[in-house]
Amino acid sequence: MALETFEQLIGGKWGGAADGGWLESVDPCAGQPWCRVPHGKVEDAVRAVDAASVAFKDGPWPRMTATARGALLRRVGDLIEQEADRLAEIETRDNGKLLSEMSAQVRYTAQWYYYYGGLADKIEGAVLPSDKPDMVNFTRLEPIGPVVAITAWNSPLLLAAYKVAPALAAGNTVVIKPSEHASASTLAFARLFEEAGMPPGVVNVVTGYGAEVGAALTKDPRIAKVTFTGGENIGREIAMEAGRNLRSTVLELGGKSPNIVFEDADMESAVNGAISGIFAASGQTCVAGSRLLLQSSIHDEFMDRLLAATKDIRVGNPLEAETNVGPIATRAQYERVLGYLDIAKQEGAECVRGGARADVAAHPDGWFVEPTIFTGVTNDMRIAREEVFGPVLSVLKFDDEEDAIAIANDSSLGLAAGVWTRDLTRAMTMTQRLQAGTVWVNTYRAVSFLSPFGGYKDSGIGRENGMDAIKQFLQVKSVWISTGGAVANPFVIR
Ligand code: NAD
Repeated sequence: MALETFEQLIGGKWGGAADGGWLESVDPCAGQPWCRVPHGKVEDAVRAVDAASVAFKDGPWPRMTATARGALLRRVGDLIEQEADRLAEIETRDNGKLLSEMSAQVRYTAQWYYYYGGLADKIEGAVLPSDKPDMVNFTRLEPIGPVVAITAWNSPLLLAAYKVAPALAAGNTVVIKPSEHASASTLAFARLFEEAGMPPGVVNVVTGYGAEVGAALTKDPRIAKVTFTGGENIGREIAMEAGRNLRSTVLELGGKSPNIVFEDADMESAVNGAISGIFAASGQTCVAGSRLLLQSSIHDEFMDRLLAATKDIRVGNPLEAETNVGPIATRAQYERVLGYLDIAKQEGAECVRGGARADVAAHPDGWFVEPTIFTGVTNDMRIAREEVFGPVLSVLKFDDEEDAIAIANDSSLGLAAGVWTRDLTRAMTMTQRLQAGTVWVNTYRAVSFLSPFGGYKDSGIGRENGMDAIKQFLQVKSVWISTGGAVANPFVIR
């Protein structure tokens, strides 16, 4: 059967890569290619930056009022609903995450376009107090220029919305580079920008390998900022390349997030929180609660409950409603996760659930891993320190609050943390002392367009979402106007 084809959008024109190459995208459930996307290279990156640079300087976009810009973004939000089912199915085919989750997530993505669309004409400078009687001083917040948005495969449209909606609301133009493993939904989504009436070149999408087209975009000196979601090592490379051009970055990187259960917690909720923290999306989320910290006094009872609750998790086709855990998104990642299962066993962790590839009879070539739980993990083991990005939970014990904080913070990463307790004082102490960009109390995995998201330590630089995120895409100009007549002495600073 012919593969479905998705084209790139550069300067308002749809097409393949400049050299005519294509990349096949593999459905992780079937283990077979299901569509193809352009295999963009340096030339495609250059063309996309050309288009974004021209659209930033000339044409209708820079002349549009912020109110009109905001209206365009809100129209994009409106258009999402009519395409949501198709976009969600594309994401599931590409990355293997559950259709039920992708469907809700794609619909939720509209909120970013509404929120930042609304914010577009509320970007205000200030008239500042002046210590010079014959001077007026005010600030303007201006767009920074063409922005490159590079996304990971696990939630392509949501991650793109975190970046593109505020960047456009601020008046910039963008080049989006989705992951080579899941590019199709971003290409399909780009039609909505066009349909909403976005001028050519304001939004461009190029696809291909990170080391080729991604690196070329990052290195281009015409780019004002790179905003990136992905792994830590690539994040470092991107920051170095951008730094060479004296450009800043927003980096959303990985996590090894502690999910901490105290003896006074509501056990049933905490068990559900532990499961959603690690088995939702097959553990392929940056905020995965991959280190479950249990207070020693409740360890055994909690484990009994957790094992009972995870006994019937259904692994299978992510398009089917009854599936709880889908495949791993890529073959390389699948092999990596299986490798960590061996590492954990060699390190002496005890496997009490799963621990191997999962056989799904209808999809023998799919990349399925059993939901896996290791107990007896200590924080020095690799399974407790390195991001696995799969359905693999490490269970650690702690004695008291101090001990929990010490273990939780003993990590180079600091993206998120969960705390389960009914004690308000304890909850407040933990929220203050945990080194993480997001702390959830008696819940897990909540995110919103309204709330800042990002990492402490090596989990990233900058914040996405919420009001302040738009400032990452603006620069401040200070304007001085003399009201005092002639410049008297040219050799004295005013
Ligand atoms: P990745 O770092 O391999 O790739 C991310 C993106 O970077 C892809 O589009 C890729 O093509 C591109 N890329 C690769 N090399 C590049 C280069 N040299 N220059 C420019 N671009 C390059 O990550 P992944 O495997 O797609 O995603 C998994 C990682 O993403 C995990 O570490 C996960 O924790 C992280 N993640 C973080 C968040 C967050 O918000 N903090 C969200 C989702 C995923």
